[in-house]
Amino acid sequence: MTICAKCENDVNKVYDCDHTKFKDYCVECYQELHYNLTEESSC
Ligand SMILES: [Zn+2]
Ligand SMILES: [Zn+2]
Repeated sequence: MTICAKCENDVNKVYDCDHTKFKDYCVECYQELHYNLTEESSC
């Protein structure tokens, strides 16, 4: 199990990219972050 760096939930799978500053985010936080970044290139 891994802790999401944003919501601090215990999740099975985490995602990271330069937008999360390479911290581990759960899928919900990761998608929410990218939802607000539509003007930038996605990854
Ligand atoms: Zn989260
Ligand atoms: Zn990204």
